[in-house]
Amino acid sequence: ENTQLKDIVSHAKEYGFVFPSSEIYDGLAAVYDYGPNGVELKNNLKRLWWQAMTQLHQNVVGIDAAIFMAPQTWVASGHVAGFNDPLVDNLDSKKRYRADVLVEDKAAEYEAAGQQDRAADLLATLGRLLTDNDLAAVKELIVSEKIVCPISGTCNWTDVRQFNLMYSTQGSAVEGDAAQIYLRPETAQGIFVNFLNVQKSARQKVPFGIAQIGKAFRNEIVARQFIFRMREFEQMEMQFFVRPGTEGEWYNTWKAARRRFHEAVGLAPEKLRFHDHDKLAHYAKAAVDIEYEFPFGFKEIEGIHSRSDFDLTQHQELSRKKQQYFDNDVNPETGKPYGNYVPYVVETSVGADRLFLATLCQAYQEETIIEGEGEKEQTKTRTFLKLHPALAPIKAAIFPLVKKDGMPEKAEEIFNSLRFDFPVIMEERDAIGKRYTRQDLIGTPFCIVVDGQTLEDDTVTVRHRDSREQTRMPISELRAYIGQAVSF
Ligand code: ATP
Repeated sequence: ENTQLKDIVSHAKEYGFVFPSSEIYDGLAAVYDYGPNGVELKNNLKRLWWQAMTQLHQNVVGIDAAIFMAPQTWVASGHVAGFNDPLVDNLDSKKRYRADVLVEDKAAEYEAAGQQDRAADLLATLGRLLTDNDLAAVKELIVSEKIVCPISGTCNWTDVRQFNLMYSTQGSAVEGDAAQIYLRPETAQGIFVNFLNVQKSARQKVPFGIAQIGKAFRNEIVARQFIFRMREFEQMEMQFFVRPGTEGEWYNTWKAARRRFHEAVGLAPEKLRFHDHDKLAHYAKAAVDIEYEFPFGFKEIEGIHSRSDFDLTQHQELSRKKQQYFDNDVNPETGKPYGNYVPYVVETSVGADRLFLATLCQAYQEETIIEGEGEKEQTKTRTFLKLHPALAPIKAAIFPLVKKDGMPEKAEEIFNSLRFDFPVIMEERDAIGKRYTRQDLIGTPFCIVVDGQTLEDDTVTVRHRDSREQTRMPISELRAYIGQAVSF
């Protein structure tokens, strides 16, 4: 319960989940690399999301669009003009902050002090000012709330100004020859510009969805909270195209479905909540966040947005290519087909890295256990990752109890019989207790031990990560047993 972010960060590094990027050069702010266990866990999360979208729904198909897109894409989407965060500098510390985050932190302080109404008022005011783009008033709010710089402790703020979060680069090898191109700040636009390609080639009828997993880049003003806010990150987005007028229903359907997903991958229901937006993005008609209670509070992991026909209409105007769909279902009110329209969109957008962090925070367990008996009895803290077996980087570790009497050979036989079906490992080094500990720390659900009895009757012990209990089982049953546990 008292898990701190720093415990998670050091665990992630020590056990090969997440490393600071280019660490030998002291790292690069807000950029991280995934290690051997991290990449497995992240791939498992991505695979489950992909399956939940495309395999469970006949009418959701995937794409993999490029990171670079025609520069007009970002004009049409509104990102060139409006993908900004309000920036403010402190003149003493010369540190940059997001003005809205400073105010939100203040509201969190009020909330922690039991002043719920004051916190809510402050957030409502902030939302209103940002919607009106009244940056002078945002600065006044910072000053009147006596918000100080966390570094210098002073209230010596510059004016608040808008800062565009998109990264750009040269579009061609020949300098001066080509327009600036952007690194996509979201994967959604790759879906919108392919709407008709996908609809026609996959012979989809509205309502249908397009899913995509891919990198996105944002020049975030403040980098903090580990992989929660990165400058290069991965999104898992699905745009669901619907007949205008039905978007409310679909919004509710996906809102519920997405919450069920997070519960199914193991996030505790009481640590999940919906948070309706006070401040709507330029494209949105309705928006809700799914928040998870991280060690640093409830924060967004996924956004569900009712985007109306904003994006497709914008692309239609700028590209001069019709983005319409002919709906030949009969409208009961007119007795005629619904005909041509630009579909409305309900979007679900989750950060793979934020889901990863939530999963890690949820799984991280410290428990006090008693080891040994009588004189030798001692209490210890056991740390383990209580990951859903479907997410665990390694599903089973196979150990010969000792390195002799044919046990290693038998263990290898088992390893060879399982490795085509699951990521498994075999380990002979160190005492058995140490080997269990290593697997606990990376969340391996099963440790299979070959002992003297194995050589006589072809049974092994299976030690369970969460309960530490051991059960005896014929080798021939292992595959089905593990398969059952890791299925989703
Ligand atoms: P925030 O308000 O936290 O900046 P956002 O509302 O801008 O997030 P969206 O544009 O809705 O986020 O993006 C959808 C999802 O992408 C978010 O729910 C989050 O999981 C993920 N995401 C967005 N920005 C980042 C980032 N800088 N690092 C990691 N994940 C991110």
